Amino acid sequence: MPDSHLQSVVCCMGQPVAGNPTQFMMEKAFEAADLDWRYLTFEVRPDDLATAVRGMREMGFKGGHFTIPHKVAVIEHLDGLSEAAELMGAVNCIYRDGDKFIGENTDGKGFVQSLSEVTAPKEKRVVILGAGGAARAIAVEVGLAGAAEITIVNRTAERGQELSDLLTDKVNVAARFVPWEDDYSVEDGTDILINATSIGLNDADARVAVDTNSLQSQMVVADVIFNPPETQLLRDAADRGCTTLDGLGMLVNQAVIGFKIWTGVDPSAAAMREALEEYLELLDIGRCQLQQLAS
Ligand code: NDP
Repeated sequence: MPDSHLQSVVCCMGQPVAGNPTQFMMEKAFEAADLDWRYLTFEVRPDDLATAVRGMREMGFKGGHFTIPHKVAVIEHLDGLSEAAELMGAVNCIYRDGDKFIGENTDGKGFVQSLSEVTAPKEKRVVILGAGGAARAIAVEVGLAGAAEITIVNRTAERGQELSDLLTDKVNVAARFVPWEDDYSVEDGTDILINATSIGLNDADARVAVDTNSLQSQMVVADVIFNPPETQLLRDAADRGCTTLDGLGMLVNQAVIGFKIWTGVDPSAAAMREALEEYLELLDIGRCQLQQLAS
């Protein structure tokens, strides 16, 4: 039985945000932890972001997640940033410190936590495909975790070079940028390859331009894509004998970190992963039903 008439509220704001599984996962986790909290998802246009964050303050929200396209724009509406969020220049999670809203970035931490199930980034040679928000968060955290070298491979040179420079100058990790032209051949000696692009999202057959013959069995190949979790890249990597890591672990672990920041309670990561898988199954069933109706 709840001991208060006022529930604690956190939220997710993005656009488009329909289909984001975090609410489903969080509400299951609140229930499992016997917490009288609510997690709501809001579609917020960029022009309305300032008003929406003000609304969160005025209505006493405990915090929230911010996703595309608000991860950078939300910063100017906050009162402070964590060291990692400051380095990345992006925020995906905010929390209250007294009457202040502080920005944190849990994407990269969630990835490193998930990676730790198969390997540790310390002293590893890491290749990251992509230089967008997810790649920046992962690169900074992998660098802070002591990677020996990080290679950024990106289609848009300016973005890739900027991330490489950030790693060298601010994170003090050896980094370089390689322009992504044709199929990228993964160099001998690479320990961890990470697809941090959006290629594969909602498309199990989408091909990431990597020469799969360059994948070697001692490599760990990770993908940030969580829907579908089994991407073409991971299937190819598994065929080559590599250890693979899907994007579900990152999603669950960044949510676990947010849960702890907001509530002070450690949630059950297993229950959250189960909820996430249940949600993706429901999405799949819904998709099949729509296809049947359309045919
Ligand atoms: P951004 O839009 O910031 O970045 C996208 C990146 O993908 C850029 O580097 C872009 O290259 C690259 N890219 C996109 N399409 C192509 C293509 N056809 N060929 C080569 N490169 C391409 O997105 P985010 O970084 O925020 O998100 C990336 C993915 O990560 C999304 O699918 C998101 O769902 C997922 N994600 C997963 C999380 C998890 O917990 N598992 C958490 C956060 C994000 P360029 O710079 O040249 O445009």
